Amino acid sequence: MEFDWTEDDARHREALRDFLAEELPADWETISQHGPGGDAQAAFSRHFCGRMAARGWLTQHWPEEYGGQAASPWRHAVVGEEMWAIGEPRGAQYMNVNWIGPALMTYGTEAQKAEHLPRISAGDVLWCQGFSEPEAGSDLAALRTQALRVEDEYVINGSKIWTSYCNHADFIILLVRTDPDSRRQRGISVLLVPMATPGIEIREIPSVVGERYFHEVFFTDVRVPVSTRLGPENEGWQVVGHALQFERVGAARYARAAVTLDRLAAIAQERGLLEDPIVVDRLGEARALCEAARVLTYKVIDLRAKGSPPTADTQLARVLGTRADNAIGVLALEIVGPEALEYGSFADSNFRLAMTAGVAVGATEVQLNLIASRFLGLPRE
Ligand SMILES: Cc1cc2nc3c(=O)[nH]c(=O)nc-3n(C[C@H](O)[C@H](O)[C@H](O)COP(=O)(O)OP(=O)(O)OC[C@H]3O[C@@H](n4cnc5c(N)ncnc54)[C@H](O)[C@@H]3O)c2cc1C
Repeated sequence: MEFDWTEDDARHREALRDFLAEELPADWETISQHGPGGDAQAAFSRHFCGRMAARGWLTQHWPEEYGGQAASPWRHAVVGEEMWAIGEPRGAQYMNVNWIGPALMTYGTEAQKAEHLPRISAGDVLWCQGFSEPEAGSDLAALRTQALRVEDEYVINGSKIWTSYCNHADFIILLVRTDPDSRRQRGISVLLVPMATPGIEIREIPSVVGERYFHEVFFTDVRVPVSTRLGPENEGWQVVGHALQFERVGAARYARAAVTLDRLAAIAQERGLLEDPIVVDRLGEARALCEAARVLTYKVIDLRAKGSPPTADTQLARVLGTRADNAIGVLALEIVGPEALEYGSFADSNFRLAMTAGVAVGATEVQLNLIASRFLGLPRE
């Protein structure tokens, strides 16, 4: 078994670090600590992704015909780790390159590919994800937003919730019920809707998580051409399932957690806290969780590189990553002490990010249910 990075990948990591050192503004830490929904970070992500695209690095793992270099998933993993470790300057655009673009390649018409892929590859378009609804989060198949077909248009009515980045997005990838008589996973379709379409209203949901993090999006008689549908009508569940199969580990949270942990260990040393065996024990435990999440994520990437179907390792990696994030978020509060009460401080922003880990992209309990049935073979609930 060979765990080392290739020389090429190691050089690429160094080149990325040099690039980040040149491109990130002096106040990047402050910008990133306000969260990816903040105006400053959203604006910066367009500039930054354009610069990455100019180097050929934004979508290098895509096929050449769509503006990529057919680089291996490992190369893209290196990019993900370096970006997350520093606070994800790609902002919402990490979704574009990880799964929205690839979904378009698999299911898009030639016209859809021609419209969207060059913009994603150039790094100048923001997308958001319109899946969750007030009564359909973990139980996504309960979604009720309807898109009824009237001749060559869909008329959309309903609402989405917790939609990140929609305040800055150009498009929303929207899950709707196109068969009004359908139930559960049947009768659902995916639409690619421009956010500027009349009838779309955004309301921010203030939260402790970060600046402009969550929103509700309301759709009132929103009319879009049938040509905005991605994939077959009423089969959107399969489209999204396929598109997201590897996205569950798409955000390299463990990379950020590891950087945070190193910083915490340095603070603990400065303050003489390493004399306390409990602190040392907690730091060690958190490091073990980070490493476990990293190795399990690599296992998932290895499957992708070999073209094998995903396994329950995806859920295991997610759960370990969440545990690492939570452990480090709490540890940061304890080591830093009262300074953590300052909004936007290092410990505060890490704790806020950690809070989202077990909910965003699927709740931990749901991941555990999947592990129970797929990995342990236990009966489904
Ligand atoms: C930071 C962040 C960003 C997000 N961004 C987006 C976005 O851009 N677009 C989007 O569509 N959504 C987004 N979401 C929403 C996210 O996908 C949902 O919050 C998530 O799917 C959980 O749904 P819910 O909030 O309705 O909670 P619920 O599903 O109501 O769950 C509530 C609690 O019940 C538990 N639970 C639910 N079902 C089960 C079960 N079967 N067994 C055991 N326990 C269960 C859960 O684990 C949880 O603790 C985001 C969420 C967060 C935190």
